[in-house]
Amino acid sequence: MRILVVEDEPSLLRSLAKALREAGYAVDTADAGDEGLYKAETYDYDAVVLDVMLPGLDGWQVLERLRRRKRTPVLMLTARDATRDRVRGLDTGADDYLVKPFDLAELLARLRALIRRAAGQASPQITVRDIVLDPRARSVTRAGVPVTLTAREYAIFEYLLVHRGEVVTRSALYEHLFDETDDTLSNLVDVHVFSLRKKLGSELIVTRRGQGYCIET
Ligand code: CA
Repeated sequence: MRILVVEDEPSLLRSLAKALREAGYAVDTADAGDEGLYKAETYDYDAVVLDVMLPGLDGWQVLERLRRRKRTPVLMLTARDATRDRVRGLDTGADDYLVKPFDLAELLARLRALIRRAAGQASPQITVRDIVLDPRARSVTRAGVPVTLTAREYAIFEYLLVHRGEVVTRSALYEHLFDETDDTLSNLVDVHVFSLRKKLGSELIVTRRGQGYCIET
């Protein structure tokens, strides 16, 4: 999953990006509204964390313009607990908001919920056949037995599972799993899928020639 963080306070931006990467997300950053809007319109993020108080376009303007074109889930960071801010955020098309200062664990939980809702999924856990993925623990079990996946394998498997029943192209995987700082591993998706099949069963992830991968439901 790939997240965009738009925040002009350098230390907060850095610590958010670091925490999100540690939680397994690919992370892009922007420290001004126009840059954030440009990236949010250009790339297909799984969620955007958007500060309200920004130089140039503020968070509301970014959100309003983004919503003319895209439904990307947006979590607003508001400076104070003002009812007017909350109402405005929800009216403008924000999916959720957090009041600064916030707890990092809560931000991560809300992002997981946003991404889950955007995929039309009610339960936090995803179950296919005898395999269960739990995004909270970033764990996978097969027939009740824990399966150890690398961070990259987990990210690919989670994305395919969230989009189960759909064909996921390789370019979609690259776009959602690699951030703007990541210029390595360009050809390794196939290798990770090979490894996933060894760990999870050869028939789970189906290759659709010339199109991509699919987990059938
Ligand atoms: Ca700010």
